[in-house]
Amino acid sequence: MYFFGGGSAEGNRDMKDILGGKGANLAEMSGIGLPVPAGFTVSTEVCKLFTQEENKIPPAIEEEILQHLKKLETITQQKFGDKDNPLLVSVRSGAKFSMPGMMDTVLNLGLNDQTLERLVQKTENRRFAWDCYRRLIHMFGDVVLEIPKKKFEDILRKKKKEMGIINDLELTEKSLEELVSEYKGLVKEETGREFPQDVKEQLFLAISAVFKSWNNPRAKTYRRLNHIPDDLGTAVNVQLMVFGNSGENSATGVGFTRNPATGEKELFGEFIVNAQGEDVVAGVRTPSPLKSLEMQMPESYKKLKDFTDNLEKHYSDMQDFEFTIQDDTLYMLQTRSGKRTGFAAIKIAVDMVEEGLIDQEKALMLVEPEALNQLLHPVFDAKEKKNHDLLAKGLAASPGAAAGQVVFTAEEAVAGKKEGKQVILVRDETSPDDIHGMSAAQGILTATGGMTSHAAVVGRQMGKPAVVGCGDVTLNEEKRFFAIGDKKFSEGDWISIEGTLGEVLDGEIPTQPSEIMKVVRGEINPEDSPMYQRFVKFLSWADKVRKLKVRANADTPEDARIAVAFGAEGIGLVRTEHMFFDRERLPFIKKMILSEAKEERTAAIYKLLPFQKEDFYGLFKAMGDRPVTIRTLDPPLHEFLPRREDLMVELAVLKTSQSDQQEKIRELEKLLERVKALSEFNPMLGHRGCRLGVTYPEVIEMQASAIFEAVIQLTKEGEKIFPEIMIPLIGTREELTDQKEIVVRVAEELMEKHGVKIPYSVGTMIEIPRAAITAAEVAKDAEFFSFGTNDLTQTTYGVSRDDGADFMAHYLAQGIWPDNPFETVDIPGVGELMKWAVEKGRQTRPDLKVGICGVHGGDPRSIIFCHKIGLNYVSCSAYQIPIARLAAAQVVLEEKKENG
Ligand code: PEP
Ligand code: MG
Repeated sequence: MYFFGGGSAEGNRDMKDILGGKGANLAEMSGIGLPVPAGFTVSTEVCKLFTQEENKIPPAIEEEILQHLKKLETITQQKFGDKDNPLLVSVRSGAKFSMPGMMDTVLNLGLNDQTLERLVQKTENRRFAWDCYRRLIHMFGDVVLEIPKKKFEDILRKKKKEMGIINDLELTEKSLEELVSEYKGLVKEETGREFPQDVKEQLFLAISAVFKSWNNPRAKTYRRLNHIPDDLGTAVNVQLMVFGNSGENSATGVGFTRNPATGEKELFGEFIVNAQGEDVVAGVRTPSPLKSLEMQMPESYKKLKDFTDNLEKHYSDMQDFEFTIQDDTLYMLQTRSGKRTGFAAIKIAVDMVEEGLIDQEKALMLVEPEALNQLLHPVFDAKEKKNHDLLAKGLAASPGAAAGQVVFTAEEAVAGKKEGKQVILVRDETSPDDIHGMSAAQGILTATGGMTSHAAVVGRQMGKPAVVGCGDVTLNEEKRFFAIGDKKFSEGDWISIEGTLGEVLDGEIPTQPSEIMKVVRGEINPEDSPMYQRFVKFLSWADKVRKLKVRANADTPEDARIAVAFGAEGIGLVRTEHMFFDRERLPFIKKMILSEAKEERTAAIYKLLPFQKEDFYGLFKAMGDRPVTIRTLDPPLHEFLPRREDLMVELAVLKTSQSDQQEKIRELEKLLERVKALSEFNPMLGHRGCRLGVTYPEVIEMQASAIFEAVIQLTKEGEKIFPEIMIPLIGTREELTDQKEIVVRVAEELMEKHGVKIPYSVGTMIEIPRAAITAAEVAKDAEFFSFGTNDLTQTTYGVSRDDGADFMAHYLAQGIWPDNPFETVDIPGVGELMKWAVEKGRQTRPDLKVGICGVHGGDPRSIIFCHKIGLNYVSCSAYQIPIARLAAAQVVLEEKKENG
């Protein structure tokens, strides 16, 4: 247990592991002299003990809690449960990583029938005291006694209806007293016992409930989605209550030191006069913007501004804070790094460097790599948008444009997504129970709630467009429609939302790329886009730090150009089979595949040569002197062949038709025969990759000719090109030797013929476990390795990369696998093979260049791993290059920190 308050503290901000985020920051604020109500933090260690002891607080710990309570009583000169001078406390959860709204809080603890009377006398404010009591029973009933909170809300709603009022503030003393007695009745009815009058019992039950809430299903889901380990546990903060609901000179609020949506430097947030904290978050009453606090309570506003400016400087980051004003005295209740959009993250990071508050390296740590995605998000097509009615405006909670079909529940959102639909989740307000639906939806629209409501906070964090607090939306959940004016929308109707402006629009509006994408595509001048300028500047800082090179997987000159614009330093994978998807070319490659005789096949293949040469020429030209890795053909044959069933149907139709189509029938029959002969039960593990090159060497000869003819031509034009030819899917060195021999022969012949010398290298993909295991041998031939982690994961796990989605969902939900291994490198398994291959490969060839080109090359956590095992580069899709540049820099900075 760690004490804080009265201008000192036993803990500090670096103790998040044991104090949780909230506890560590309360201690820190207290330590630097900010007005924090005194209290103590029960550490996460206790939470772990509690779970071990089957949800019981061990007696020795109870004793220690009571000792700290005594200390709090001494400092505050009040006594817990005392009928003359009662101490009231809040009990709030706080884990190492913030989990907004996931776990539980109880306020006003220490009230019972006796202390209530004293509070009435002491404050001479009967209404206030009863308001606290009804809140306590409500929260305690919900959190501790597990009575559905809807039952309390129903009683409250009924009471307000009887009185003909809307606002909680209009509840009279008498009605609050009645509420307390009805709530007590509910507690008795639901639990078979009275609301506990023993305040110590209240306290221990509340602490236990907070510990238990660590393992509630919504907290578990949140942790899984956010990769937070389950064994951290939560801390509990027991703290002197301060009251924002003690009258017109009291208030409670939340805010950010900068605008969390845009990054603008302004105190941003909201507050409610005469209210307690949960009123702001729950969206029960509509809060006012912090700006108006300046007019209503200028003194407190000034202090708040000073304190929070200090906090921002002290923490070197934008802060998200909570405060309470009790009778014109300001208290700080929380501070932490504020969640923000990708737009805001970049702006804040760059601005803070320019304001001299932080250095570039600190700035790099302020942006989560995935957040960069938002800057590359689609926006509406401006012309199209004009053709759609603006239905309503709500709060611009999370930027980005989205169109989708209306759904009303999280379950429908998930089901819709499964069917391949785009959906917009429409709710009164969201709760942590809706997370899976929010994650499945394109966007979120809510009728109530403010900028810090659940939908807003979570939407921003997920990078989901969200419009919240849209008062014009009237939801009729029973009849399953919502209305805006006299227009009704039912499930399946299309709407569009613009999260950057808070707009709700009729119908489906096509989206178009982000501003950054426009600059990249040359539609806007870079100078006209401050956002682009910041983006480029920020990433240039990352480039100074990172050790990993970043390349792109690109198959066309257009891909290559975008990749270069995002900072690609080369191409790590050209999938040459993708160059044949074009309609013009498909017949030739099909013919090649279907040919039985070598001459026939060679003829078909050489028809492809001019196309290939042209493609390679374009790619090399777009990349200039950056390295380009071209992989020889790796077509899973089934992707290029007609389906057997389709051919059979076509044949049957022809045969029963009247017309004489004998020629066509014979042709189809022959084709069907061939398709049958080529068909494989498991094409992903079949005749593909180098196996194709080994059986049809003419394919590799043609590709090598196309590559070197293009390079020779460019060299003659004065360009410097560095081709790298990569052989796919080898399991043994001998496969590579066979393929390399062909490539080298063709290259040498062509260079000789044209009298030029071009530096080139031949390497291999490592995507079969056997190749990884025998890397020392493979490296005798391979001049470089590139991990094909898509196939390497498939073959290491024995799980098809194309199927398995259903069972995988179960695995992930049950935590049997922590992550989808096709998204994030499975470090203990696939990762171990990679590590081994790097080590063994470099034993043979110390300067062996090693990269990765599976999807994992764009995943930040996998990139960290790639850095740690000493890869030279990662290769990912063009749009992930900014993410990879940042992730690669962050891991270097983390290591620097770890090594002091
Ligand atoms: C891989 O297997 O990881 C890879 C990059 O190759 P492909 O996805 O084309 O099989
Ligand atoms: Mg592969």
